[in-house]
Amino acid sequence: MSDPVEEVIVPAYEARTIEVKKGQTLEVVDLEGQQVGDLAAWMIDDPSEHLSPAHTVSSLAKLVPEVGDPILSNHRTPLLRIVRDDVGRHDLIVPCCDPERYAIDYDAPGHPSCLGSIQKAIAGQDRELTIEGENCWNVFMNNTVEDGRIVTREPPHPAGSAIVMEVLEDLVVALSACPQDISAVNAYNPTPMALRVTG
Ligand SMILES: [Zn+2]
Repeated sequence: MSDPVEEVIVPAYEARTIEVKKGQTLEVVDLEGQQVGDLAAWMIDDPSEHLSPAHTVSSLAKLVPEVGDPILSNHRTPLLRIVRDDVGRHDLIVPCCDPERYAIDYDAPGHPSCLGSIQKAIAGQDRELTIEGENCWNVFMNNTVEDGRIVTREPPHPAGSAIVMEVLEDLVVALSACPQDISAVNAYNPTPMALRVTG
C-alpha cells in the first residue's frame, strides 16, 4: 500500500469527514480492534444522492458485501468497490445508533450516538449534507441473522484491521467511531479509527 495522501483520525465517540476523488483508494482502519465504524457518503456534485445500505443489499442480494462488490447509492450508482477486507463482517440492515436508541432502548438519555456525531461533523461543511440513520453502513459490525433474529456479538477483529475500497465517484465521506459502550457492539470499549486516502 502506498503512503496515504491524507489521513483523518476519528477519535472514539466522534465522527469526521473526508473528501475523496474517483480513482483514489479509501481505507477504513480500526486502530485498536473490536471497533465498529458507521460510514455515510454523499456525491459531491449532488449530495441528494448518497450511500444506501438498503439499495446495496437489494442489488447484491446479499446481507454482507464481499471483496469485489460495489456499495451503491440511493440511485443504485456504484460509489465504492471493496478491494480488501480484513474483517468480512458488516451490518447493512440496522440504522446507526441515535439519541432515541439510547433513551428508549437503553434508558441512557443524552448518550452520544453515531447519528449525533455525524450531524456534528457535517454541520461545519458548506455543502447541503443531511443524514438519516438508515443511510449509514455499519462497517465491521458483528451482526448475524439467526432464526429470524438479529444477534449482535463482540467484533473479534484485531487492531489494525481494515477495509480497503476503490473510490468510484467524487464523494464526501463521514465516519463515526461508534460510541455504543453499553452493548457488545464495540466490546463495551469504544476506540478510535482512521480514514486513509491513497492514490
Ligand atoms: Zn453507533
